[in-house]
Amino acid sequence: MSGKILEGRTALITGASRGIGAAIAGRFAAEGAHLILTARTVGGLEEVDDAIRGAGGAKATLVPADLLDMDQIDRIAAAVYERFGKLDVLVGNAGTLGILSPVGHVDPKIWDETMALNVTVNYRLIRAFDSLLRLSDAGRAIFVSSGAARSAKPYWGPYSASKAALESLVRTYAGEVSKTNIRVNLVNPGGVRTAMRAQAFPGEDPMTLVTPQDVTDVFVQLAALDCTSHGATLNAQ
Ligand code: NDP
Repeated sequence: MSGKILEGRTALITGASRGIGAAIAGRFAAEGAHLILTARTVGGLEEVDDAIRGAGGAKATLVPADLLDMDQIDRIAAAVYERFGKLDVLVGNAGTLGILSPVGHVDPKIWDETMALNVTVNYRLIRAFDSLLRLSDAGRAIFVSSGAARSAKPYWGPYSASKAALESLVRTYAGEVSKTNIRVNLVNPGGVRTAMRAQAFPGEDPMTLVTPQDVTDVFVQLAALDCTSHGATLNAQ
């Protein structure tokens, strides 16, 4: 036994080309997981994979995809079934801030894209991967939310509404699978030094924020075989 918490487990992480998703990938690889990493930016995925292998981890399976083309999610699930026969850990991390603006001024296209990526894509992930998670002896689904799901701050309408909807969706799914071996949870990362945070708070000194690597402990805890948390939102800091 290597003592690694995720040894032999297969984990799929969305939004893994940078930021929090890339950090979860690095941490899961260090814990022995085989990774399936998806995002649009091929170069970012390759950099994450290089870093993982540089640190002694196994080569990841890279799946460049725009998740807004949602039929791709079904194709990815079919390929995962074909190759691995199941999925142990699903991390729905990809997200967008959309725009900070009074609700009445939000461009309908940006509203639709924000709801699509932050909510509908995660519904499609659940729809596509539920049966594969059931085939694992200990399926784990983790979705990345935000304090904005509850704060309802002025100008954060699309993002706040999307994260509130995501939390509701994920807790509903948790209730539906509570009698299975699947454990389903949400994480609120708190303020983290990433491109999205810089977009939201352009005047902020990024050095005052924790790094993406600093918030990965809770993801390992929720992915682990001994996870008992279910239907909860855990704060990463
Ligand atoms: P980043 O903007 O750094 O990363 C977002 C990730 O999502 C990237 O890998 C990006 O990859 C991917 N992505 C965006 N659009 C698409 C798309 N259409 N298809 C596929 N992948 C896509 O953000 P963070 O790392 O900060 O955010 C990660 C999660 O954490 C999000 O859900 C966010 O809401 C949440 N969060 C972040 C906080 C923070 O302070 N940073 C605080 C609270 C919550 P690519 O562009 O290559 O497609």
